[in-house]
Amino acid sequence: MTERTHEDWLALARKVVPATTAWIGGPVPSLSGATRTTVNPATGAVLAEVAECDEHDVDAAVAAARRAFEGGAWSTASPRDRAAVLHRIARKIEDHVEELALLDSLDAGKRIADTIAIDAPGSAAILRWYAESLDKVYGEVAPTGAADLAVVTREPLGVVAAVVPWNYPLEMAIWKIAPALAAGNSVILKPAEDSPLSALRLAGLAAEAGLPDGVLSVVPGAGPVAGRALGRHRGVDVVTFTGSTSTGQLFQQYAGQSNLKQVWLEAGGKSAVVVLDDVADLDAAADGVAAGIFTNTGQVCSATSRLVVQRGVADELVQRVVGRALAIDVGDPLDPATGMGPVASERQAARVLELMEAGAAQAREVHGGGLVPDMPAPTYVRPQVLLGVDPDAPIAQTEVFGPVLSVHVVDTVDEAVAVANGTPYALAAGLWTDSLSRAHGVARRLRAGTVSVNCVDALDVATPFGGFGQSGYGRDLSLHALDKFTGLKTTWIHHG
Ligand code: NAD
Repeated sequence: MTERTHEDWLALARKVVPATTAWIGGPVPSLSGATRTTVNPATGAVLAEVAECDEHDVDAAVAAARRAFEGGAWSTASPRDRAAVLHRIARKIEDHVEELALLDSLDAGKRIADTIAIDAPGSAAILRWYAESLDKVYGEVAPTGAADLAVVTREPLGVVAAVVPWNYPLEMAIWKIAPALAAGNSVILKPAEDSPLSALRLAGLAAEAGLPDGVLSVVPGAGPVAGRALGRHRGVDVVTFTGSTSTGQLFQQYAGQSNLKQVWLEAGGKSAVVVLDDVADLDAAADGVAAGIFTNTGQVCSATSRLVVQRGVADELVQRVVGRALAIDVGDPLDPATGMGPVASERQAARVLELMEAGAAQAREVHGGGLVPDMPAPTYVRPQVLLGVDPDAPIAQTEVFGPVLSVHVVDTVDEAVAVANGTPYALAAGLWTDSLSRAHGVARRLRAGTVSVNCVDALDVATPFGGFGQSGYGRDLSLHALDKFTGLKTTWIHHG
């Protein structure tokens, strides 16, 4: 395919007709008739009025999911048959890759350069990976005496509720849906309030691909209403959640107050990138540090929002990082040349700006930050780099979820590790060093679900993703995610 230009994308965007209904056994309005306006954060323009589901719609979705599960058309289908359907859904995504990329770019202000290269095709690839994996997972035969046969099988758990945020709307949904469906569960997806459109389209594509009715439902709605109803529903067996730590804590409460459902949490982060003083290629490290925080306008759970650098290279590195931050071209996400798009909503932009202002007051030296003037909406912020920040200062401890980097200069490796590990979160970490032994030694000491050494935010469907501490404990991606959507069942046959 030839590269599309800014004009091409603008023209295609004008043709997009978003699906606006919930999906419960097919497209349906919300039972109350309520809708929510979804807005393009890049322009402020209204994109669609989307069904706003409440607890009654959630009841209907859970009933449909349970019926489908008990009916067995999916839950007891042969792994090969399930794999075939997942491959067909992946194919549908590939056939509609531009439409899905545009929906996420329009709905969440994401750069089209990212959604067309990563989010949409990556979602299809993840589905294919689980389709290819699911018929290679064997059960066990336990060691018993000759009079017995004990067989351990992996059973689907039932009804899985997936509650996801707005930073990667399609991809976060697929991270949950793909392994949950592969394992034979029924899934109810609740997209974030600000970004429901790709999820709704996905439900239609999955049905066209032959996924049986009720196996995948989508209930757009408010977190404290539809999300809470899923969390507290006695008919939901598992919640898989990605979002903020405070909402994750609520899901644990909901489970305790209802049916002890399993709750898998992928929560917030305040990750550090450590640059040691043996790094010779400071340009590469500076590129990595900048990409680690400014990608997706800093709205990445594993964004490395704290730079911990050894004094010997600090001045040179920081100068380069600041140069890169200030050179980022903030603009229209539908322009493939744009370096950084807007924040995903006006509400979130206001929060980021507030934290930028507070952060500036906690720093010795401030570069960038603030609103970009003369843009079509008040959602475009400048990257910000804060120097001379105390590692315990609020801006170095609070997840901004925006393009804000605090810089912490340290003398020793021990100090670097202490500062890097010095938050309640532990999702990801970066490490730049030219020394193999330091790479091994320091990586082991960094408390994080993923440590990226001499690379940025390493991530693949083949490796688990998740954190420790207040970043949650769930793991998405890899065969471990397939595991978590199954339960172990022992069948013990005594034959005398
Ligand atoms: P959020 O917690 O506000 O919302 C996430 C989801 O939870 C949304 O669907 C929302 O509607 C729902 N929700 C909100 N309040 C709820 C409530 N009271 N009851 C039930 N559901 C509720 O998070 P956000 O602002 O949408 O997303 C940003 C956060 O997500 C950041 O903290 C970021 O680090 C985190 N995140 C984590 C990962 C990861 O894998 N660890 C990935 C992406 C984003």
